Amino acid sequence: MNENGVNVRINLEIINTITRGRFEVELHSWKHNSIMKPITDDTELFSVAAPPVVRIPCQWRDRDCRPLVKAGQRVLRGEPVATTEGVSVHSPVSGKVKEITVADNCEGIPAVTVIVETDEEGGTAALPAYSDWESLDRQALYTHLQSAGIVTTYKEGATYVKALPHPDTEIRTVLLHGCSLSPDVGEGTQLPEILQEVVSGLKILLSLYPGAELVWQSEKGSLLEEILSQFPQARLLSDTVTPFDSTMRAAMRQVLGHSLVEGCSPMAEGLLPVTFQQARAANRAVLLGEPYMEQLVRVEGNGVRHPGYYQVPLGINLGEVLIAAGADESQLAKVVVGCALNGTSVSRLDLPVGKSVSSVLTFTHDEVFHYQNRPCIHCGRCYQVCPQKLLPAKIAAYAESRRWDLAVEEGVLLCGECGRCSFICPARKPLLQLMELAKRMSAKH
Ligand code: SF4
Ligand code: SF4
Repeated sequence: MNENGVNVRINLEIINTITRGRFEVELHSWKHNSIMKPITDDTELFSVAAPPVVRIPCQWRDRDCRPLVKAGQRVLRGEPVATTEGVSVHSPVSGKVKEITVADNCEGIPAVTVIVETDEEGGTAALPAYSDWESLDRQALYTHLQSAGIVTTYKEGATYVKALPHPDTEIRTVLLHGCSLSPDVGEGTQLPEILQEVVSGLKILLSLYPGAELVWQSEKGSLLEEILSQFPQARLLSDTVTPFDSTMRAAMRQVLGHSLVEGCSPMAEGLLPVTFQQARAANRAVLLGEPYMEQLVRVEGNGVRHPGYYQVPLGINLGEVLIAAGADESQLAKVVVGCALNGTSVSRLDLPVGKSVSSVLTFTHDEVFHYQNRPCIHCGRCYQVCPQKLLPAKIAAYAESRRWDLAVEEGVLLCGECGRCSFICPARKPLLQLMELAKRMSAKH
């Protein structure tokens, strides 16, 4: 049982937990009240109240992180608790810092985590608000966004959370991506308030990088034209994503005209990826002086009774989000953070929601195929679909025999973790997970 009373019972093997593990969840004992309320009448947007304890992930993949608080210290809602790569990370609650520790984030990566117990005293720390933000120079605007914790995230193999590039960086394209809050939320011609915030946030971000065009990676939606019409330099990406493609990767390839080199940041190529959540957070940071301390998470699938968009405090556990979405513990069999093709199927529900989490997929027992790791039938399909022209079957065999050195020789470090090989494999081998494992273990050794 975790601090908030969520029972999380897990029965997993270490390797291949991601696809083969079966977890059992007991969610009934969480007693928190009024956890969910609709944000608007005509959309499935819900606000989830902060649980008694939040575990705020502060460190992003190999970045320096400096905690700004100590255990026992009281913090206000909106107060910075750490700084990572010059960007502040804020507490979404007021309360006492219980502990600063290193704990797994939603991708299973150890991160500096600040644990805060909420209290009744309340109190909020706000930043300056600028209704006339157009009068700010770009450096002042950038510094404000850094203080407010605004970041960019993108998936290129792993998920990266990064500081916004300095305004002197040559950014030619702002790529609006991700499935969170797609424009088909709601009907009609009036933008829901939340999308108005997104539009305003995009204007703020575009003002940092004058000359950048706005490119939208999205399915068509009823409000699309209304939104696009507000930007003189905006265009929609044509739909060239194949069923085996990562949408993010495909979008970046379309914009850049080539694939990103492994390990290279899109910002170095003049492309800034932005999600709806980040644009909205930028708007609230500037116009309301509100730091980025809530995350908008799309919860989908038959494992919950109320799929929809959930505005949750950073540091809430996945299990608590699923309870808010009406997870049925007798039905819930699998939870994937991210998209279906290459998201991470988690083995625990006590992992905290951080700034990289924008969607959660849930599956019931009927939908999950528990299979044996059957032998490779040497059909060659994984090779055919691999964009890096690797031999996934061969690398997987090396990984299974723990020969990380041979996996590296065979090019595993070039693997972009797109998941195509796993998707196509008729033997249902967990190729993606073996690639990830070999990369991680070879780095360790
Ligand atoms: S090995 Fe698999 S996961 Fe890696 S790049 Fe090739 S197809 Fe994608
Ligand atoms: S797709 Fe699967 S079965 Fe076919 S060669 Fe690759 S690992 Fe073997």
